[in-house]
Amino acid sequence: MAKVSIPREQIVTGSLPSICVVCGAEASHRRFPGVAAPSLAWILVSPLLGLVAFWTYILFAGKDSGKAGLPFCDRHRNYWTRRAWIIVLGFVVLVALITMAILIAPPEAAGQQPAGRQNPPHWLFGVLGCWMLLFLPTFLVVQLSAMRPTGGNRQVLVLSGVHRHFAAAVTSESG
Ligand SMILES: [Zn+2]
Repeated sequence: MAKVSIPREQIVTGSLPSICVVCGAEASHRRFPGVAAPSLAWILVSPLLGLVAFWTYILFAGKDSGKAGLPFCDRHRNYWTRRAWIIVLGFVVLVALITMAILIAPPEAAGQQPAGRQNPPHWLFGVLGCWMLLFLPTFLVVQLSAMRPTGGNRQVLVLSGVHRHFAAAVTSESG
């Protein structure tokens, strides 16, 4: 696990070494050229929205992108896509549950109950609570253990959790 700054230009022009970002093996696929787009630079400005935007992009990024993009081997070509499904779907379900809980069980209804005769909370809150207990740790583990962008500026994209062979190849080429 290493951290590396990749010049955005190298992602766009496809001049990165053909070494899998995740495992350091021979990479025959290039994917996700959009991670080089400056529009994704606001990942750091709004962490939560940036995260969801990033994983949503990964989900809809399509198959191999030709020359441009990050190098992945056969085994890891769907590395980001698999994680994107977990994170985006989990987040969508969370937002949907919160919305339903607000719409179906308005909190002011509790105040209209006579004292001492409070109804039990709506079952939706139970589901919501369980989902949060399930999804939040999963989200944290998937997000923090994954090879992922953690920073950058107009010139470079910083990737964390990359294989050291990939990091070494990028660093020796640009330096
Ligand atoms: Zn690999």
